[in-house]
Amino acid sequence: MDDIVFIGDWIKDRVLGSGSFGVVVLWKHKRTDEKLAIKTCKWGDELTAKHKERWSKEVEMLQSCQNPNIVGTKELPPEFVNGLQRANPSGLPILCMEYCSGGDLRQVLNKPESCAGLKEQQVRQILSDIRNAMQFLHQNRITHRDLKPENVVMCVLDNVGQMNPQGQKMSYKLIDLGYAKEIDSNSICASFVGTLQYLAPEILYSKTYSNSVDFWSLGLLAFEVICGKRPFLPFMAPVQWMPHVKKKASSNICVYETFHEDIEYSDEIFPENHISKPFKAYIEEWLRIALEWDPKLRGRNAPSRVTFNLPAEEKEKASNIVIFEQLGDILSKKIIKIFSVLTFSELAYEIDNTTNVSTVKTWIQRDTNITAYEQILISQSNYVELENEDLLIKYWNERNDIMLSLFSKTAFMADSVEAIVPKSVQRCLEHPRALYNFKNSQNLYQNGVYFVQVQMEMFDSLVKGLFVRGESLKYEGNQLLLKHNSVDKGIGNLLAQDEILKKMIETGQKHITDLRDNSTGTNLLGGFDKIFKDAEDLKDKICKLKSAWSQVTVRLQSATRRCNEPISADLNNFVAKYNYTTVYTNAYKVFLFYKKSMNELRGKERQCHDMMKVCYDCLKLRSKILTEIKHQPFVLKLMDLSTEFAKIGDIVKNAFEHTEKLTADLANVLDELTNCTWSTISLIVKDVNSLSDLPYSVVSYEKKDFKIGESVSDHCIKMVNKVEEDDKLKSLIEDSLKIRQRHVHLTEKLNSQKDLLNKPLFDFSFLDEN
Ligand code: ADP
Ligand code: MG
Repeated sequence: MDDIVFIGDWIKDRVLGSGSFGVVVLWKHKRTDEKLAIKTCKWGDELTAKHKERWSKEVEMLQSCQNPNIVGTKELPPEFVNGLQRANPSGLPILCMEYCSGGDLRQVLNKPESCAGLKEQQVRQILSDIRNAMQFLHQNRITHRDLKPENVVMCVLDNVGQMNPQGQKMSYKLIDLGYAKEIDSNSICASFVGTLQYLAPEILYSKTYSNSVDFWSLGLLAFEVICGKRPFLPFMAPVQWMPHVKKKASSNICVYETFHEDIEYSDEIFPENHISKPFKAYIEEWLRIALEWDPKLRGRNAPSRVTFNLPAEEKEKASNIVIFEQLGDILSKKIIKIFSVLTFSELAYEIDNTTNVSTVKTWIQRDTNITAYEQILISQSNYVELENEDLLIKYWNERNDIMLSLFSKTAFMADSVEAIVPKSVQRCLEHPRALYNFKNSQNLYQNGVYFVQVQMEMFDSLVKGLFVRGESLKYEGNQLLLKHNSVDKGIGNLLAQDEILKKMIETGQKHITDLRDNSTGTNLLGGFDKIFKDAEDLKDKICKLKSAWSQVTVRLQSATRRCNEPISADLNNFVAKYNYTTVYTNAYKVFLFYKKSMNELRGKERQCHDMMKVCYDCLKLRSKILTEIKHQPFVLKLMDLSTEFAKIGDIVKNAFEHTEKLTADLANVLDELTNCTWSTISLIVKDVNSLSDLPYSVVSYEKKDFKIGESVSDHCIKMVNKVEEDDKLKSLIEDSLKIRQRHVHLTEKLNSQKDLLNKPLFDFSFLDEN
């Protein structure tokens, strides 16, 4: 087909892939830019009847499988039937598919950055999509038999608004049903197919198998996208590794060769990966059932105590296939990731819709020793500090990246934050002259790139954390200003009322001193002294509050000013000076160079100086960054502001409480003064006929007729005229009445001003009224 470049309006773009029988070519339409992936069989007469049948079956089956995670087929434009005649010597049906522009998963896994697996989000999407596709096939009684990274393609949805069911802009699709077979009634197929490395062992061992062969391949594929390598002795051919793997316990999900070529069995995946702890624990549990050696037990729930001792066939009958359901459950788990600055580490926790911040704080305390009280958790999405009652679900997102930054109230970063160095990297740093065989060198180069990658990401998380802390402090400062302003209003009111009280007390004191100088009514005036004393104490307290408050205002203004000078410029300067770009580029280059020369190196021993140097530089840079950053002015400023806001916050809260209390106390003193004045007047006009409502201040009195039901103030005004014999008392009463009126007037004015304050902005109508 190489020589065919045009067919009608279609232009041949390139060969997308080619296997043992087929070749897949990308064709583009000249005008519409439509793209098609067209698969033809490259053989002619050499094909056996069986091959021909298989081919036709693939085309037929793909056309009948309608699933978002199985590659879609399209109608072949009629011009291709003739146009491809020469390229399709067998005359077998031509498969016309939608073009998936992201390449296949093998290409993704071959990139240096995937050498220790893919990011958790990508892993999740691949597993979710492939689970979907496989479950669909099995429900339709089809076994794929050839599931491997080469047969998964990435479809980037480039039309705006086009998304897959999970709302993502791309999805993974299964291709190549060339080996797929509809299972007959015995659920057994007896033909040998598939790529050997991903093949379930029983296909080699027993030659009869069921759809549980797909579970094995799915387990292998899952392991590889998570760790970047296959779980079972990836450097050996299947015939070599199978005898070792056969010996594994059901709990073993990984068999590998150590540096010194011993074979180890493990219940865990390789430690070099990009997935979070909770996800890892779940997926390891799932891998145990997917990578079960015994095909009769594979993909099924664990035997119960009752069925434990039964033969495998009986166990099979007594258990259910859970592989798809369990994987679906795991993928629906919500995991929240937190970057802790103090411990320079990543934390991850599974949450549900009811998990609140205080619960997570107790988990963090358990894992990091940072007490819940000390923890400051800040959202990466809205830059706000989380409240203890907040639900974590608000901060979780499908993207699964780091969602929260954790700071400590007391320290920025612990003195020694040790790097987690992969074993192979550690060995090469300790023994720089050591010789490496092919397997060990490949391990080192992969883990070297991974090591640099992780350090780079941690630094990135630190920088993001510092940025959001800066932003959260701005927000905190603004919130504090709002609180400050409302307390300030309260204090303003308090001072205005204090002014009224002061005037009333001054007048009262003047009269009472005069009365005492003339020895008039002295026995009636004892109660006023206590009120004057209370008023004096109150004045003192209000005065202290006022002066403390003015200091808070100044402090807060200065802190918010500092806070609003952005730290991003300083942070960017630091990042420009200290970053992993060079080290990472070197790691990348060294890795690519190694891969290029890999085949020549097979069977030879070598030193790995280049990668050792990269790892050494990376460690050195890491330690330099962590030492330097602690002394950066922007870091000191953040820590300083954090403490300052906490302190001011406490003072503002305190001031608020004091203002409330003093306002209430002041109202009490005013009440007491009014009561005492009126009671005294009532006594003087000898117009009280009941003892019960007298304040303690009245020490002697005379009873006189007072009609029950008559208003005290009306009565007193009438009485005022009768008390002509004592001018001084008369003036006292008049003054008291005036003070009373003034009090009423000032209170009204105060209330009307409060109303004005609450009016919306830019409403100046009140100016006209005055
Ligand atoms: P084979 O049966 O020879 O393995 P495949 O159907 O697996 O053929 O296709 C071979 C390669 O072609 C795949 O690994 C993939 O890289 C590429 N390919 C196949 N189909 C498509 C498609 N629809 N879109 C993009 N690339 C594809
Ligand atoms: Mg293929």
